[in-house]
Formats: sequence, structure tokens, C-alpha cells
Amino acid sequence: MDKEVDILIIGGGITGISLASFLKTSDYLIIEKDSELGGYCKTTISNDYIWDYSGHFFHFNNNEIKNYLINNIDCEIVTVNKVCYVYYNKQLIDYPFQNNIHQLNENEYLECLEDLKNKEDLKINTFTDYIVSNLGNAICNKFVKPYNQKLYACDLDQLDFDAMGRFFPKLLDYNNYSSGLSFKHKQTTYNDTFIYPKGGSYEFIKSLLKRVNSNNISVNNEVHSIDINEKKVITSKGTIKYNKLVNTIPFNHLLKLSGEESKNLSWNKVVVFNMGFDSPSDIDANWIYYPGNEIFYRVGFYNNIFKTDKMSLYVEIGMKHNELFDEKVTLNSILNDLQSVGIIKNQILVDYQVIAMNPAYVHITKQSKSIYSKWCEKNNTKDVYSIGRYGSWTYCSIEDNIIQAQELALRLNQQL
Ligand SMILES: Cc1cc2nc3c(=O)[nH]c(=O)nc-3n(C[C@H](O)[C@H](O)[C@H](O)COP(=O)(O)OP(=O)(O)OC[C@H]3O[C@@H](n4cnc5c(N)ncnc54)[C@H](O)[C@@H]3O)c2cc1C
Repeated sequence: MDKEVDILIIGGGITGISLASFLKTSDYLIIEKDSELGGYCKTTISNDYIWDYSGHFFHFNNNEIKNYLINNIDCEIVTVNKVCYVYYNKQLIDYPFQNNIHQLNENEYLECLEDLKNKEDLKINTFTDYIVSNLGNAICNKFVKPYNQKLYACDLDQLDFDAMGRFFPKLLDYNNYSSGLSFKHKQTTYNDTFIYPKGGSYEFIKSLLKRVNSNNISVNNEVHSIDINEKKVITSKGTIKYNKLVNTIPFNHLLKLSGEESKNLSWNKVVVFNMGFDSPSDIDANWIYYPGNEIFYRVGFYNNIFKTDKMSLYVEIGMKHNELFDEKVTLNSILNDLQSVGIIKNQILVDYQVIAMNPAYVHITKQSKSIYSKWCEKNNTKDVYSIGRYGSWTYCSIEDNIIQAQELALRLNQQL
């Protein structure tokens, strides 16, 4: 296929499809390397279980975006009041950990309070400086550091202080603790309630696709190289010439495909085991965080979202991006650890699926931010853009992806 198109969109995940849905022209093409659209927003239905690429839940701040998605959806949407815990010293502590330290034993509680009171006013450069100066050493050592090290699979000193942005729970100050305020007022987090389509997150993709002409999508089509100066892309199906290019594949891949250096970017891989069991669970959580020696950093319960009777889990393991794992060995470790933390009692595993999300969490560093912003400065003037969670090498939600796509579409529509 040799083609010419005004707007070429690389990647058919939520960002690429949202962008297409907002365009006021039909002169565009989405190219997607997989046979299926959706990127990380895909759903597997296996036996009685509905599984995403890891738990994908939706907490919309922007009603316009929420309605844009759900007005067109074909299935029921459930609204869930979040229940989540941290598993610490064989005990479930309400999340966020730092706002529920009164649930620890008395000595540990006093240790955390003392540290909160005396926390140092550090000069904040790294993520470690940020958490320690906000929360004190005791809270960090018990939960925030070990948990995030398991998740990011890197030294936290490497990350920028703002690596988690608005997703990092804010802390009540020491005076609130000492006056007992945190006992009376449950701390709110950005996702206290969330919505979820009963058919899984792919329903959102289906909803957006109603606004996109299928003739403008080419699947099983992988980008092999990008020539920004010549405004052309070579794919597994031929050459495409474009006027404007919107990339949504991981930024490090974009750099490589266009012949640029990408060695200063790093990221983790998350291996997800979706697991279906034969019988119920008595745990009420939507998900639980594990800062300890368990192989996983988080376990989520689909059965508590759908209110189904058989336990259905997603189990997330953080790894270095190039770390190898053996499926059977990993599965056995997971089953052992699920048993030792009390999730598996008599339940028998009847079905499972393994997904490697790579990249999953990019490492946001001063250098990564500077590489991306310099790239934008150089390339946006040539009508080349890179957006989305991985395209802009950031930490964000699906709502943020759709907003970013809408903003860019507005700009592109003005040039029509
Ligand atoms: C563990 C985990 C849990 C998450 N949970 C939530 C959550 O609960 N709520 C939430 O809102 N967000 C969540 N997210 C974030 C969410 O998954 C992302 O923000 C979103 O899916 C990113 O969509 P995207 O379209 O930007 O990228 P992607 O989904 O990665 O899409 C990029 C597309 O490009 C394609 N592609 C790649 N290379 C090429 C190539 N060379 N040629 C052509 N096509 C290519 C890919 O196949 C893919 O379809 C989570 C992320 C992770 C890792």
C-alpha cells in the first residue's frame, strides 16, 4: 500500500482512536501493528471471567469527556465506591497508608507520628526527597519506599520528585494527626469512586469507534521507520506520505524509528496474571497493595467490581524492562504468596492469562522530561506530535489521554 494522507496517526490505542474521533476531516489514517485495536485498553472474556490488561478503572474529573464515552456505550456501567488496603505485617490497613497509621500497633504508630513531627525540610530533587520530606522516614520505610521500588523496579533516587504527579496521595499535616482529625475524616484520594463498563474496558474503545470510519484504520500494519524531514513512514504494508503526523506509540520507539538516540530513557515492565478460581472469596477489597516480600505489588478483585460469585483476580508484578520470567515458575510463586497472604483458602485456579505490559510505568526523570520537551520544540513546528501516556513518556490516566487527544484535534481542526 503506497498512500498519501493529511493526518497519519500511529497507534490504535485509546489515544489514537480518541484523536481520530475528534477530527473534523476524513483525510486521516490510523495504523496499528496488532490485529486488534485498543492498545492497553483491551478485554479478554474467558470462561466466566472478564479481564482487562490489568485492572483498568475510570475516575473522570471531566464530565464532558465522561459523557463523550459513556453516552455511546452498549453495556451497563457500574459505579464502585473504592475499597482498598495495604497488606502490612499480616494486617490490612486502609489505604492511603499514611492517613491510616493509627491502625498500626501502638509502637509503630508513635514511631510514624514522631517522624512526621520531626520530618526534615529537605531540598527536594528526587522522588525519595519528596516522599521523605512529606511523610517522614518511618512511613516511607514501612510502605511508600518498598512498594514503589517493587512497582517501578528501579532506585527511587533516579525518579523526578513529581514522578507520580496528582496520583500521589496528599498528606494531612502533623497537626491534623495530633488533634485526631484523620480518625474522623476519611482521607479522599483522586479515585474514591470509579466507573467500569460491565463488558470490560474495551467497551470504551467500542464506544469511540462508533465515531471513526473503519476505512480510516489499517490494522496488522507496523511502522518500521519514520522520515520526519521527508514526511513519510515505512510500514509493513508500504510507504505512507503525510502532512501531519501524530505518534502514540512509546516515545523511545518513536525516537529509534526516526533514527534518534533513546538510551537515556528507562521504564519498567508489569507482568499481569489474570486468574479465575472456582469459588468465592470473603475479601471485600477492590485491590490490595503489597510492600513486602510477596512477588506481586498489587492484587485486584474483579469479582468485587462485577459482584460475581467466583474469585477473579489480576495480579501485578513489577520488573526491569528486560527481565525474563518463566511463566510456570512465576505462577507457582504467585499461588504460594496468594495463599500465604490469605487470598487463596480453598479456591482452585481454573483459568489464567499472562500479559506483559512493556513499557508500563516510564521512569520520569529530569532528563526524560527535558528530552521530550526539546523533541516537541523541534518537531511540533514540523507538524509532528507525540501524545498519550507512552507517546509523551509520562504517568497519566485514560481520561488524560482523551483530553490530550481532544486538545490536539482542536489544533489540527483549525488548520483544515
Ligand atoms: C498496570 C497499569 C494499570 C493501569 N490502570 C489504569 C486505570 O485503572 N485507569 C486508567 O485510566 N488508566 C490506567 N492505566 C493507563 C492506561 O493503560 C494508559 O493511559 C492508556 O491505555 C494508554 O493508551 P495509549 O493509546 O496512549 O497507548 P497504548 O495503549 O500503548 O496504544 C499504543 C498502540 O500503538 C501500537 N503500536 C506500538 N508500536 C507500533 C508500531 N511500530 N506500529 C504501529 N502500531 C504500534 C500498539 O499496539 C498500541 O495499540 C494503567 C496502565 C498500566 C500499565
